[in-house]
Amino acid sequence: MKNFTVYRVGDIRITKITEQIFRTLTVSQLYPDATSALLKSLTGATEVTQDSAVEMSIHSWLVETPHCRLLIDTASGNLKDRPFSSLFHQLHSPWMENLILAGVRPSEIDYVLHTHLHVDHVGWNTVLSGDHWVPTFVNATYVCSNAEMAFYESPAAASRMMVFDDSILPVRDAGQLEVIANQGGQFLPGIKFHPTPGHSPGHMSISIESGNEIALFCGDVMHSPLQVAFSDWNSMFCGQQLAARKSRKRLLEQACLDRTTVFTSHFTESSVGRVTEAQGRYNWEFI
Ligand SMILES: [Zn+2]
Ligand SMILES: [Zn+2]
Repeated sequence: MKNFTVYRVGDIRITKITEQIFRTLTVSQLYPDATSALLKSLTGATEVTQDSAVEMSIHSWLVETPHCRLLIDTASGNLKDRPFSSLFHQLHSPWMENLILAGVRPSEIDYVLHTHLHVDHVGWNTVLSGDHWVPTFVNATYVCSNAEMAFYESPAAASRMMVFDDSILPVRDAGQLEVIANQGGQFLPGIKFHPTPGHSPGHMSISIESGNEIALFCGDVMHSPLQVAFSDWNSMFCGQQLAARKSRKRLLEQACLDRTTVFTSHFTESSVGRVTEAQGRYNWEFI
């Protein structure tokens, strides 16, 4: 039996369901704003240079409340054609085995909440049945923002339509997709969507409050702890530069509040931590 770290936030249990870990991008590729002078100013991280590989994880979060079971994002999925990236193309990852080892069958998932609809966040939405993609979580309501859906109707999405066609359309056609307004707000008691656009047009962070504590799921507002220290660094994947910076600052302010634990989408190690602020710089600490 595999050992999973289970985080408890009030009455809820949160478990990471890992798909893969990769080191294909350097600091300067992932963060075009990175300079060696800025990296040297990071106390305790002098070994990090512009040429260092950034280790990143792709995973989902399983959230079990006393009332329901949720997934936050669904990683990249297996057997999907992704000619634009070998990281996602025709995978055979153990993500589903990991979910089941964590004690939950797909039919027991009540909600799939999406921070956004990028390729590495929607893949396990569907699985192959014969030659058709069908919803993996047959009893779940899948949720995303209106702006994320609208993006797939724009010309900018042309190169990613295969992601929409195999991972989102089958869910919508099955009547299992709920699209929420771009201003976010409360979705279920204690569960809120917070607009954090910029990385993608309708990106949402998600907070879940229980027993006077808060779990904050930041999605792709940041990809590694370097973006906590250097909160104005966008990643190469951020679509709207100014909005992405603004959203990151707002999220870090929110993350600094007492009782808040941050669950990231791409940090490695535990992928979980706390944010503090001192002398105008934010600091990340893994827990
Ligand atoms: Zn993304
Ligand atoms: Zn991502």
